[in-house]
Amino acid sequence: MVVIKDISGIEHNIDCIACSIQSGEVALPVERIAETNYFVAEQDFEYPIEGFTVIVAKRHIKSFLEFTDEEQKDFISFLIKCRKAMKEKLGIEEITIIQEETTNSSHFHIWLFPWHSWMSDYKKKIDNVMKIMEMAKKEHSNEVELLKIKESTKKLKEYFFNN
Ligand SMILES: [Zn+2]
Repeated sequence: MVVIKDISGIEHNIDCIACSIQSGEVALPVERIAETNYFVAEQDFEYPIEGFTVIVAKRHIKSFLEFTDEEQKDFISFLIKCRKAMKEKLGIEEITIIQEETTNSSHFHIWLFPWHSWMSDYKKKIDNVMKIMEMAKKEHSNEVELLKIKESTKKLKEYFFNN
C-alpha cells in the first residue's frame, strides 16, 4: 500500500493507483481526457502542471514487452493523437517523454511532460523534469491552478471529439 495525494489534495491509500482509477475505486481529480479499447489518457494525478498527460494501459502490465499486436497499433496512434492534442489545443511546442519500468506499482504508464514558458528558469533537460514536478507540487497545489488544469484538460478532451 502507498499513500498518494492527488492534485485536489485528497489522499488515497492504494496498491495500484492505475487499477484503482480504472475500477472506479479512486475518482480522478479532473475528468479523463480520452480512452481507446486498451489505453486511457489522463491529466497527471499528482503533479499540478497543465497538459501533463499520462497514457496508462487498461491492463495491469509492466512494459511494452507485454503489448499484444492490437495494443501496439492502438498505442502508437493514441500516443501521437495525445501529442497533437497538446500542440493544437494548448500550444505545447516541446515535450519530454518518460516511461519507467521500475516504479512501485509497475502498471504501464508513459508521461508526456510539457515544457511551459513558466519553466524557463530550468533548462529543458530530463534531470530538471522531476525538479519542476516537485516545485509544481509545492507551489501550484491550490484552487487557482486546479481550475487552470480543469480548463486545459477540457481543451485536450475536445480534440478527441473531432479527431
Ligand atoms: Zn495496476
